Amino acid sequence: MADFVGGLSGTVHLTSASRNLVDEVAQWGTVRSSVAQFAPEDCWALRRGQEHISGPEILSPRCAHITENGNYGYVCMPLAAQGETLGILHLCEPNAAEKPRWLDERRQILRGIVDTLALELANLRLRETLRQQSIRDPNTGLFNRRYLEETSSRELRRMERSHLPLVMIMLDVDHFKQFNDTFGHEAGDLVLKQVAATMLDNAREADIVSRYGGEEFAVVMPGASLQEGIERAEALRVAVKQLHVTHRGRTLGTITMSLGVAAYPEHGASWSELANAADHALYKAKEEGRDRAVASGGEAQTERTPIHVVPR
Ligand code: GH3
Ligand code: MG
Ligand code: MG
Repeated sequence: MADFVGGLSGTVHLTSASRNLVDEVAQWGTVRSSVAQFAPEDCWALRRGQEHISGPEILSPRCAHITENGNYGYVCMPLAAQGETLGILHLCEPNAAEKPRWLDERRQILRGIVDTLALELANLRLRETLRQQSIRDPNTGLFNRRYLEETSSRELRRMERSHLPLVMIMLDVDHFKQFNDTFGHEAGDLVLKQVAATMLDNAREADIVSRYGGEEFAVVMPGASLQEGIERAEALRVAVKQLHVTHRGRTLGTITMSLGVAAYPEHGASWSELANAADHALYKAKEEGRDRAVASGGEAQTERTPIHVVPR
């Protein structure tokens, strides 16, 4: 930018997704003439949707986000593309008093910069939106199955190289069909959202918490041992059971889950072996009466039965 705008200092600011803040994303030159973060109302270019110039001998108000108040010249240009204003390009000419034509001289190039910048930023934003949509489940905000499978295979290889374990927990809400039948599909969706939030509350940053499909979830914990996986599964079971979900003033009954735990290296070296082992353990948890966590090849991990794992 410094090369393009020759001698002018400046910043690029983008409006946040919530539309109540405008943040600096780039800065160049010797003069810092705008605060880094401000409200959209503080910029005349954003308020009016058009270029705004201020400076010596110009009878227009200075934007409130401008910090300098010497004899400088300023321009804010909206970055607009695809019918949306994404932010502004802000420029400052410290010698505006001696160079009254500082802006006119650069009109052509500035137009090109603003158009290119706006279009590229809109493209990046669109790409990120599409990426998020393709890897997340819209109801719960958790990662989807495709993301889980891609990332987990990679994580598994990474753990293998570093000689670290990895845990996979498969979770399935018990008698979920009854929730839907009794309280309706919307209440069912709410239950899934709450279960998802509980899983996130109990997760670490490196964990991959995902919706596997329907009322089934999966958590992958890179670096965690089988024992840690069993403890987490049990903690999740208890946390979900303690949820009090209400929908349209009605209290939805207790939610219980069945969980299956499998770990690398004990239960397999590939993603599919681990997923199968966790699935089998989950099936066993259902069979043994639900509302419990079972480790692959082990016994139910409930309060009634102490944690105890028998190798397969
Ligand atoms: P089990 O204890 O054996 O797991 O019984 P279940 O009733 O949970 O299992 P089943 O597989 O018979 O039923 C799952 C139900 O989950 C059926 C389906 O209508 C419901 N379901 C799947 N996805 C969604 C969803 O996104 N929203 C809602 N509300 N319900 C869903
Ligand atoms: Mg179920
Ligand atoms: Mg199911």
